[in-house]
Amino acid sequence: MNNSMTDEPDVTPASGNGALSGQQKQDFGADPLQVRDSDHYADEYVEGFVDKWDDLIDWKKRYESEGSFFVDLLKSRGVKSVLDVATGTGFHSVRLIEEGFETVSVDGSPEMLAKAFENGKNYGGHILRVVHADWRWLNRDVHGEFDAVICLGNSFTHLFSERDRRKALAEFYAVLKHDGVLILDQRNYDTILDNGFSSKHTYYYCGDQVTAEPEYVDEGLARFRYQFPDNSQYHLNMYPLRKDYVRRLLREVGFQHVETYGDFQETFKADEPDFLVHVAEKN
Ligand code: SAM
Repeated sequence: MNNSMTDEPDVTPASGNGALSGQQKQDFGADPLQVRDSDHYADEYVEGFVDKWDDLIDWKKRYESEGSFFVDLLKSRGVKSVLDVATGTGFHSVRLIEEGFETVSVDGSPEMLAKAFENGKNYGGHILRVVHADWRWLNRDVHGEFDAVICLGNSFTHLFSERDRRKALAEFYAVLKHDGVLILDQRNYDTILDNGFSSKHTYYYCGDQVTAEPEYVDEGLARFRYQFPDNSQYHLNMYPLRKDYVRRLLREVGFQHVETYGDFQETFKADEPDFLVHVAEKN
């Protein structure tokens, strides 16, 4: 592999990211609705948000609500090595290590990687192999070929330009073996864009302690509010990916076959799926 992969999190900022610090407050500037920037993600996942999220989301419950969907999918394809490109606080990386997959954990936020590393130790004493890299320049930092790349937890939504999305997908494609598979999930933004959110449908991403609701939506921005039991709230500005658009992009960067699944992991289901999972085969 490469020398940025170590047993301790590499906290050197990857180029192309916004500035990072252990800051507690999010900063969306004077007009949050104008923040439509692929580099802003690192500033949105501030320490307070990440810590609260992790304290309140019970990993065990998340395991249960997600079931063995991804593990079964990967095992049925004979996958052995997985690159988790959106590690976040490490939920899927740890899960996959426990299931015996050789897993390398990537994130563009060093704080997330540090948290994931800590979580790995706390949940079963696992030492995560972490790489700090931005998806758009992934192959500069990750050398090797993987049977699967996973980009989960509605992460791809952080890219705001088509150029960035194409670049990232091309980088994911390049780290895959010839018969590799990319698994990428997203919120079902079509429903939000087409039906609005006046029904005040609450999206229970995980459990009942944190609520995530769209606060503002147009074709170029979905701004979500995350509320915690202590009344604190945080926001994420995301690009509302339409399902067929993502499927088209996947095919256009070279994936030969793309299958899209509806919900599987929600603790609360509305009549429409909240999450979509794309499974894209390289060959
Ligand atoms: N997979 C995690 C989970 O399901 O718990 C969720 C991760 S969180 C929603 C999205 C992650 O993607 C964040 O940790 C963020 O730092 C990372 N991310 C967003 N844009 C990125 C980029 N361009 N390159 C690398 N990482 C990125």
